[in-house]
Amino acid sequence: RAKHEGRGAIRLFTSAMDQQLRDRRALEHDLRVAVERGELYLEYQPQQDRHGILKAYEALVRWRHPVRGIIAPGEFIPVAEKSGSIAQIDDWVLMEACMEAASWHQPLRVAVNVSAAQFRRENLDAHVRKALRESGLPASRLELEITEGVLIEDIARAKRTMQSLKALGIHIALDDFGTGYSSLSYLEAFPLDRIKIDRSFVAALGESERSLAIVRAVIGLAHGLGVPVLAEGIETDAQMSLLLQEGCDEMQGYLIGRPRSLESAPQSNRVPIRAAS
Ligand code: C2E
Ligand code: MG
Ligand code: MG
Ligand code: MG
Repeated sequence: RAKHEGRGAIRLFTSAMDQQLRDRRALEHDLRVAVERGELYLEYQPQQDRHGILKAYEALVRWRHPVRGIIAPGEFIPVAEKSGSIAQIDDWVLMEACMEAASWHQPLRVAVNVSAAQFRRENLDAHVRKALRESGLPASRLELEITEGVLIEDIARAKRTMQSLKALGIHIALDDFGTGYSSLSYLEAFPLDRIKIDRSFVAALGESERSLAIVRAVIGLAHGLGVPVLAEGIETDAQMSLLLQEGCDEMQGYLIGRPRSLESAPQSNRVPIRAAS
């Protein structure tokens, strides 16, 4: 009997794995055609300085799946990275963000997330140049967000890539700072325009002395290198005032504004509206 049950359990287990694999395959397949079908769109989340002045918007991709509804990037970007459709998605995001930003009334910066695969590409600077040329967006209004992982993978190469990007006149931010390998020593090797403190540290602010110590240290280090610091994921007034008190330069989070589509935004002077064409 035990033997019998055992086999049944294995069968069950296998079929659950089969199901997962089938789901994943279906998602991979759908993702490959998502760009062509126009199912991706961007939402924008505001970034402001310590005086409350709007400085930039971060573009965040969403997938309007015909059956599953709206899927968050955390769910499909990793799938795209593994299945090889990430390059197409990254290209689309870069072009779309530049196009939309070029049509805003206010000359604000747009921040675009770059996947590890995109950063590793041989001709990333050519892609960026093309997006700038075709959209007409000035280079100074584009910021690329990269994560720590891509820097330490191959430091010499990452440096060359960053230098070629910087030569175009764009900005580079280090995203999710503190969550990766966080060797503080390599920071000074890269021409960074901004360091973004990960929201896990911000979330713990005010609850633990340790997170305050970390935030303080990151701000001190960044300022020592002459790099401004942006805190992400600010949700409460208490977090905001602690960050202001610690000298944080820029802020982003639900407290300031949630990511949203700018095309459907009501007209107001706090939000750049699309120029009439
Ligand atoms: P990220 O670049 O660190 O973006 C910040 C994430 O935190 C966003 O999630 C944003 O909606 C969320 N967030 C912002 N403020 C708050 C807050 O106050 N509280 C909380 N709880 N969350 C907040 P989202 O849009 O789901 O994006 C998740 C991640 O997916 C991004 O993290 C980024 O790594 C990646 N991603 C997003 N768009 C793109 C893209 O176009 N290309 C690539 N390669 N990756 C992207
Ligand atoms: Mg980001
Ligand atoms: Mg982040
Ligand atoms: Mg992230």
